Amino acid sequence: MAAATLARFSGRKIILVESEAIGTVGVGEATIPQIRLFNAALGINEGTFLRETKGTFKLAIEFDGWSGEGESYLHAFGSVGHPSGVLPFQHYWLRAHATGEAEPLSAYCLNDVAARAGKMQFFQAQPGQPAPDVPWAYHFDAGLYAALLRSYAEERGVERIEGAIASVKRDTESGDIAALVLEDGSQIEGGLFLDCTGFRSLLLGEVLGVGFEDWSHWLPCDTAVAVPCAPGGDFAPYTRSIARKAGWQWRIPLQHRIGNGHVFCSEFMSADEATDILLGNLDGSPQADPRVLQFTTGMRERQWERNCLALGLAGGFMEPLESTSIHLIQSSIARLLQMLPGAEVAPAVREEFNRQARFEWERIRDFLILHYAANGREGEPFWDRCRAIDVPDTLTAKIETFRASGNIHREHEELFTDQGWLQVMVGQGIVPEAYNPIADQMPAAELSAMLARIVTRNKQTAASMAEHADFLRALIDHSQRKTA
Ligand SMILES: Cc1cc2nc3c(=O)[nH]c(=O)nc-3n(C[C@H](O)[C@H](O)[C@H](O)COP(=O)(O)OP(=O)(O)OC[C@H]3O[C@@H](n4cnc5c(N)ncnc54)[C@H](O)[C@@H]3O)c2cc1C
Repeated sequence: MAAATLARFSGRKIILVESEAIGTVGVGEATIPQIRLFNAALGINEGTFLRETKGTFKLAIEFDGWSGEGESYLHAFGSVGHPSGVLPFQHYWLRAHATGEAEPLSAYCLNDVAARAGKMQFFQAQPGQPAPDVPWAYHFDAGLYAALLRSYAEERGVERIEGAIASVKRDTESGDIAALVLEDGSQIEGGLFLDCTGFRSLLLGEVLGVGFEDWSHWLPCDTAVAVPCAPGGDFAPYTRSIARKAGWQWRIPLQHRIGNGHVFCSEFMSADEATDILLGNLDGSPQADPRVLQFTTGMRERQWERNCLALGLAGGFMEPLESTSIHLIQSSIARLLQMLPGAEVAPAVREEFNRQARFEWERIRDFLILHYAANGREGEPFWDRCRAIDVPDTLTAKIETFRASGNIHREHEELFTDQGWLQVMVGQGIVPEAYNPIADQMPAAELSAMLARIVTRNKQTAASMAEHADFLRALIDHSQRKTA
């Protein structure tokens, strides 16, 4: 991603070093809508992208069993209801909810209704009528996406060198990284180094000694077992996250297979038990041996140190509960482009980069903790422990404010919208005791009519949309005909 983007925009010579012998982590298949901005910036056609990466559409994430066994809710992209006057929608919903006159929150979100119905469609605004709001992301095969971007990058002049980095040379005066030394003895000099070496964090962590801030006391899962299986079951336009005894299972439908994994806490479950649970809950036959991956949740204390900036797992890791890792890479790349240094890296620029990155990571961290801290699985040791976690003050403030007033304050440019926070808080069982009294100003009949209108419109719009599989096939066929 970085090589492709820098080749497209920076005008610099870009060298990409990677080692097939070491390989990649080989997981990471679910995304959030921001990836469309990234692909659009590179000029990658959507049909081509979905064809090449065997991708599917994603409208939401389902959280199954998180608020209690048998309970399920979606965190759907897109809006929930619409604001009225000065107030966000949830205050009107809370007023009707308090008297039992509201439908579940999900009925007011078109993405939710469409996802549950297995539908997908692009919309265009009609004269005098805005287009229905259905934002989407993708599930895709990350290895195929990497291959697509590799060709893109090489076509634009990136020099790719196959080989393992054996050591790193530093400038004796400045301490900056001066060159990479490969196992065959060749040296690669550079001005700015992007450390994309995965969990090892070879340049930023090992060579420059930037410490790792461990967040596992807040997010205690530390292991994942992953296995692809043959397609089967629903071809759903959403990711599933199913709570299990000591963690959760993901299900990501692609065109040719389903990506599955089980994220769990090793203190409460062995890898063998986690693997058995995963293999016992697949929609089709496994297509490979299960792979166990260990991780520590947290981030490097600084993402950019001296002339080296970490991207991806080299900069830290948060479990894929809200599909945020690929986004974090893309957002760091976007930030780098905005702050691209000349020959010298100004400390103030680097500090601003680090400040923005930390803010983004920490707000995502809080959002993930929310799912665990507000779980409803009482009587299960792992989940009981999670409910007892002393969450960061920033998250406590958000939950308490919502509980007391129905308000959600989205901080600056934090990734998740107030609508996302709303769906997860309500989905996890946090329902406010109060709402803004301005909502009482609306006559009762007007409120009922407004709520009913949204529900009816969502149902009708979703019913008019294409089946996910048909829509996908038509788009891919169209892109194939255009390429031919
Ligand atoms: C269990 C799990 C599930 C995930 N699910 C999702 C998801 O659904 N959505 C999402 O957005 N993200 C997800 N992620 C994160 C996602 O997989 C990563 O962010 C993404 O794949 C990028 O990885 P990376 O490039 O940082 O590291 P890697 O894939 O590990 O790549 C490291 C690269 O560095 C090279 N390298 C390492 N050492 C050397 C060396 N000495 N010399 C030369 N080259 C070297 C390797 O060859 C490789 O090319 C998941 C991660 C895990 C662990």
